[in-house]
Amino acid sequence: MTHIRFDVITIFPAFFSGPLDCGIVKQAQKKGRISVCVHDLRAFTSDKHKTVDDRPFGGGEGMVLKPEPLFQAVEHVYSLLPGTRRQVILLSPQGEKFDQSLAFQLARSPQITLICGRYEGVDERVTEHLATSAISIGDYVLSGGELAACVLLDAITRLVPGVLHNQSSAQRDSFGPSPDHRITVQQRAALLDHPHYTRPEVFNGLKVPEVLLSGHHARIEAWRHKKALEKTLKNRPDLLKYEGLSGSDRELLKTEIER
Ligand code: SAH
Repeated sequence: MTHIRFDVITIFPAFFSGPLDCGIVKQAQKKGRISVCVHDLRAFTSDKHKTVDDRPFGGGEGMVLKPEPLFQAVEHVYSLLPGTRRQVILLSPQGEKFDQSLAFQLARSPQITLICGRYEGVDERVTEHLATSAISIGDYVLSGGELAACVLLDAITRLVPGVLHNQSSAQRDSFGPSPDHRITVQQRAALLDHPHYTRPEVFNGLKVPEVLLSGHHARIEAWRHKKALEKTLKNRPDLLKYEGLSGSDRELLKTEIER
């Protein structure tokens, strides 16, 4: 049974109680598919004031997270897990951009340590000599790595086998299936998800598309695929890789573009 252990290093352990106690992430812990251990960075300081930050060398604004407590904290995590493949991720806007394919890759790791920065960030020696990678969740600056850590934790957890009731739904989500999933050429295109509808059939005069009520599976599939293509073209044309598209998809897109 696949199991991932997450170790989160943060100056705000309380931050995680909400996100870890809801929905899929909570269920995944209950089912023993993931476990999360949140470590308070201040526990790894050695001075009376439990100092985790200091002023930057060379001057300038803000404070920087000191290297010693972070190295100590990761050392502590290692001591709990002898022999495990080491995956130490620093959350940072300067890191590699997180996406679904990176989530699929990380979902194969038995253990992941997440370091949450604060203030102006962390001492660069942490980036270079402690973290095995740095990951950004997008091109904007947050005030801390905790939210970003929750994003990774959530996105990775739902890909762990046995976490979602219907694992094939993860393969059908936006951005496409896992790289090693057996799929057809059409599916390989990293499309956005198709629209979803539920009851009532008519809401405030707004009707659910007829085809979805038809019970005709092939027609429903074709409609969903067309809608996914249209939405991707409209909102995320950057995702449309020509080589991932079938001849009929290309035709469809051509007509959409010409409209
Ligand atoms: N001075 C830094 C920003 C520090 S923000 C810079 O300009 O690059 C403080 C902390 O928030 C960072 O150390 C990081 O852990 C977290 N953080 C901010 N934005 C992030 C993002 N887009 N992705 C991941 N972590 C982020």
